[in-house]
Amino acid sequence: MKNIQMVDLKGQYSKIEAVVNASIQEVLETTSFINGPKVHEFQKNLECYLNVKHVIPCANGTDALQIAMMGLGLKPGDEVITADFTFAATVEVIALLQLTPVLVDVEPDTFNISVDAIRKAITPKTKAIVPVHLFGQCANMEAIMELAGEHNLFVIEDNAQAIGANYTYKDGKKVKVGTIGHVSSTSFFPSKNLGCYGDGGAIFTNDDQLAHTIRGIVNHGMYERYHHDVVGVNSRLDSIQAAVLDAKLPHLDAYNKARIEAAKKYDEAFKNEDKITVPFRSGEEDNHVFHQYTLKVNGVDRDALVKHLNEKGIPCGVYYPIPLHNQKAYKDDRYNEADFEVTNQLVKEVISLPMHTELEDDQIEFITSTIKAFINE
Ligand SMILES: *Cc1c(COP(=O)(O)O)cnc(C)c1O
Repeated sequence: MKNIQMVDLKGQYSKIEAVVNASIQEVLETTSFINGPKVHEFQKNLECYLNVKHVIPCANGTDALQIAMMGLGLKPGDEVITADFTFAATVEVIALLQLTPVLVDVEPDTFNISVDAIRKAITPKTKAIVPVHLFGQCANMEAIMELAGEHNLFVIEDNAQAIGANYTYKDGKKVKVGTIGHVSSTSFFPSKNLGCYGDGGAIFTNDDQLAHTIRGIVNHGMYERYHHDVVGVNSRLDSIQAAVLDAKLPHLDAYNKARIEAAKKYDEAFKNEDKITVPFRSGEEDNHVFHQYTLKVNGVDRDALVKHLNEKGIPCGVYYPIPLHNQKAYKDDRYNEADFEVTNQLVKEVISLPMHTELEDDQIEFITSTIKAFINE
């Protein structure tokens, strides 16, 4: 059996090495390192894949969120509602822009932001909602868009973990996740479902005016060379990263499929384990692209399990161990512990298993049998 890794970037690269190398070589030959043709090519190909009007590449997923909020013209003091159970980047940029983060609880099954919790948190100062499509599955966007419509709020999708996933509406209509809200952000961090070999990110929108505004913001607020109309930032996807992404994009569906297949094998192995809850799927198979495969364990010492797996050479992760509302940087007197019942429970129960495109059956068998032996000891 090969060594088990949380993410196997090397194994993935070895299968597409020739194409990736050729794509990078093209950039080296043109020396168009910033805003070169590769960036434009990748942007067009991603627009086509997602069926979205505008993709604006930028430097990373955190910038993408920040720039989306700047593009919407959110102002200091505006309240932005987001999930308590997510990576800190989401709340970080809200605070950085001097907007007021309002963290709310999530759903116990999908781990995604609770629509009821959003509804309760809306005040006259609320300007936007940021659902995070956690671990590769879309939040309840139909209900979120409806609620946002009633209160005239912007919806910014944090799609760093779910690129390529589908969202199915009640009437059966299917769209790509990240094309539903007013604007979305994604990350091409190497371990994400579509990862480059460094940092990268992008913003998506179907709104022409907003896309124009954002294209200026990513480039120092310039719409015409050396005319700075708004305060911007320097946030660009470099051409070498675009070359990697453009070589990998045609494989994204196959990569997500490989994750889905690995998830099914995990599910199967745990089907008779009553101390383990496997990830809930809210729709069809391609609605969850398993950025993480995250179990809930009950009646098991989760931290002892993590330690045991690590000793057996099985990496695993606890995403996320501390609710954001309890992080020093984001504590706020307005929060009431009773409003975070689900997150407070999840941080004690979740464990994410190795998940990537190169997982082999003997590895999955070893991981699942080691877990089963431990919890039934
Ligand atoms: C990875 C991630 C980000 C940030 O992306 P970077 O490219 O690392 O800046 C933001 N939100 C979520 C939910 C993420 O998982």
